[in-house]
This record gives sequence, C-alpha cells and structure tokens, in this order.
Amino acid sequence: MPVGVYYFRKDCRINDNPLLARACAECDQLIYVWVCPPPSQPGHAWSSHRAGSLRYAFMRECIEDLRADLAAEGVVLVVRFGDPVQVLAQIKAECSYDRLYGEELPGTEEIMGWKTISDYAASNGVQVIQHWQRTLLSLSDLPFGINNLPRVFTSFRTKVEQNWHVRESADVLSWPKSVALPSDPWQLEFAKEKKMDPRASLDFKGGAKSGYERLLCYCGSADLLGRYKETRNGLIGPDYSSKLSPWLAWGCLSPVEVYDAILNYEDKFGANESSYWLVFELLWRDFFQFTARKEGRRIFLRSGFGEGVRSKSNGRSVDEIKWKEGQTGHAFVDACMRELVATGYMSNRGRQNAASYLVHDLAIDWRIGASFFEYHLLDYDVASNWCNWAYIAGVGNDPRAGRKFNVDKQASDYDPKQTFGKLWA
Ligand SMILES: Cc1cc2nc3c(=O)[nH]c(=O)nc-3n(C[C@H](O)[C@H](O)[C@H](O)COP(=O)(O)OP(=O)(O)OC[C@H]3O[C@@H](n4cnc5c(N)ncnc54)[C@H](O)[C@@H]3O)c2cc1C
Repeated sequence: MPVGVYYFRKDCRINDNPLLARACAECDQLIYVWVCPPPSQPGHAWSSHRAGSLRYAFMRECIEDLRADLAAEGVVLVVRFGDPVQVLAQIKAECSYDRLYGEELPGTEEIMGWKTISDYAASNGVQVIQHWQRTLLSLSDLPFGINNLPRVFTSFRTKVEQNWHVRESADVLSWPKSVALPSDPWQLEFAKEKKMDPRASLDFKGGAKSGYERLLCYCGSADLLGRYKETRNGLIGPDYSSKLSPWLAWGCLSPVEVYDAILNYEDKFGANESSYWLVFELLWRDFFQFTARKEGRRIFLRSGFGEGVRSKSNGRSVDEIKWKEGQTGHAFVDACMRELVATGYMSNRGRQNAASYLVHDLAIDWRIGASFFEYHLLDYDVASNWCNWAYIAGVGNDPRAGRKFNVDKQASDYDPKQTFGKLWA
C-alpha cells in the first residue's frame, strides 16, 4: 500500500476536503505536511514584502488549529519552513513516499511553485495528484469549458444557475496512520498573538474552529443572514456582512460548507432574498477563481485581460503614500485605509471606494493598490484581490470601462453621519 504526502496549501481544514479524503482512502500511511516560505520571502515589483504581521499571525492560528484537529484524529501535522522542494526532498530522505497530494490553486506563483514540485516528484518516482477544490461549483459541473468562461459575471451566473449542481460534502472516512516526523519551531517573525485594534469589525482568529463558529453564528440567525441584502453595505461592526472571507481565503472553511449552512438556514427560517444573496456573493468568488485560472498571468498585467481602457498612471508618489497612510484628506477613503492597516480587514464598500479613488482620482497604477491590499488583508486571495482590482480599474471583467465611484456621494450615502469616518479619524 502506498505511502503518501498530503501537502496542505490553501486548504487548512480536515472537513469537506475532497482531496484529503481521497488521499486518506488511497494510502496506507500519510505524511501530513505544511510548508511555509520564510517571511523574508522577497516581495514583487510593487511591494518589498508579501504579508504583514497580522496576516502571518492569522496564518499561524490557522496552522495550529489544523494541527489540533489532526491530532484529535490521532495523526501528526509536520510543519516545516523553507523552499518547498528542499523540504519535500528532506522529508523523502527521512521517510520515503510514492504519492504527493496537493490542491490546485490559481495564480502564477502558485502554479509555477507546483510545477517545480511536480518536476521534482516526477524525477524521484513520486506520483503527483492535484485537484481543484477551491470553488463552490466543481470544474466538472460548469456548463462550459474553462476557456469558454463568460467574460461577464451576469452571463456566468445565468448559465451556472440553469445547470445548478453543488457537490456533496466530502469527509475523511478513516485516517491512515501518520508518519510522525519532527516539525520546525515557529520562527520569531511569526507573531504568536496578534493585537486586534478594538475598533475592528470582528476579532478574527484563524482556524476552522473559529471559522465554523462564525458560520453558525451568522447563518443561524434571522437577524444576521436573514437581513444580509439590506445590511451588506455597512461599515462598522460584526453584523453587516458575514465576515467569512479570511476563513474562506485560507481554506479553513470550504464554500460548500458555507452553502450547506445557507441551505440549513433556509430549511429553518425559509429562503429569502438575503439567503439567496449570500450564494450570489459566493458565485462572484467562484467567478474570479475561474477567471484567474483561465487568464493566468494576465491578471497581473497593467493592461489586464478585459476589453476596457488601459489604466493610465501619473506616478504621483506623494499621493500614493498619502493613500496608503490614510492621509488623502477624504475622510471616507482615509477611514477605510486606516481600518485596513490596523485590522487587516475592510468592508466591500470600503474596498471599492478606496480602489476607485487610487485608480480614477489619483490616476495611480492599480497594481500598486492591489499589492498594498495583498500585504495587509487577512483574507488576501490572489483571484479575489487581483480580479476585483482589475475590475475597478477597467481592465478586467467589467462590461463597462472601469468603475469610478463618486467618493463624496458614496460617503454621504453610506456614512451620512460620518460615524465611520470619525471612528477612524
Ligand atoms: C479592490 C477589492 C479587493 C478585494 N480583495 C479581496 C481579497 O483579497 N479576498 C477576498 O476574499 N475578497 C476580496 N474582495 C471582495 C470582498 O470585498 C470581500 O470578499 C468581502 O468584503 C469580505 O467580507 P465578508 O466576508 O463579510 O463578505 P460578504 O459580503 O459576507 O460575502 C460573503 C463571501 O462572498 C465572497 N465575496 C463577496 N464579494 C466578493 C467579491 N466582490 N469578489 C470575490 N468574492 C466575494 C467572499 O468570499 C465573502 O466572504 C475584494 C474586493 C475589492 C473591491
């Protein structure tokens, strides 16, 4: 019977994890591994670092929670730091394996990283099994091939809703013995506890346990999910939207688990526009995941992948710094940016306005904004972040050429008493 490695990527959970369930069914013994590149990992053209301390701390909580969940099943998570290929080679020297399982992700670095791993595995006689499981709808349930993915969301939604199928939840039936190799100690750079600003919308804690608690709290209440469509443009506090994004981004929760919780809500309280609207938002998420898979590196190009107008830039670095520091002089935009830096979270309304202001009012390259969000967001997700930014810049999926928000009007519509602006003044 084969010995396998299950390589956790952005699927930090043991429940509803189809690839993990498959690996457990196919292998006699498994080495459960999580590999973290060091925090000193170089940034990219627009930012010298990849992730801020809040996201690293959230990630650490996700991994510790995963480790505890696996331990409760009697198996050991091996945590190592460094280059993934070197780590996998080191593990092979400690215990030989012949299969390697890992979920498929969008994003050029994610794809290139996996290709390097696959090349290493192939030249060492290891069979590689990869599986796309990041979306609510499976690739095989789409009514079109990925290359024929509609460019516009409404067309995507209409087509998938006509052929609606969400897979069953996939749980592990029995756990193969683990190979208990040693883990590396956490490096100092990974803050053990993050100090969340008391003004934060929610005290986000990484891991499936906290994610599930939030899911049950939000989807178990007629006052929360039952009013989502009316409240979702809010700016302050835990209740205006689900706040599930960090757990979805790290895979502590699967979109199928969220969907099942919405169905449970509908069984209990009846379906309404709000319960539908949360599914609608999960479809936006799917749409961007599939778009990133289809478009590849074009989601990072300044000219993007849409048919919109190429964003121009006047490269005014003083404006850029003011935007990043929440010092533009626009109370609404500034409050959004300060919230992001202090908490790692920003509402959807805030993200749209802060992004639009950078791109359309300050005429700065949208990728500077996208990489700043990448650094700070707890829920950073390559597809959701870069495709939303491209959309607002008018170089992505938007049928109109860019979304310019009138930030003054938005502020008076959504923060009429400046409560939000004053909170972050
Ligand atoms: C410029 C910009 C950058 C963004 N970057 C990210 C990102 O890196 N990661 C991320 O998860 N979301 C991103 N979003 C989408 C959205 O703002 C967040 O998902 C949402 O604010 C998270 O809060 P919530 O969980 O309470 O959302 P809810 O309103 O409760 O929505 C439920 C879930 O649906 C999904 N969702 C909702 N809106 C969108 C959307 N527009 N695109 C994709 N998924 C969506 C999320 O998974 C979210 O958790 C971005 C939006 C903009 C405009």
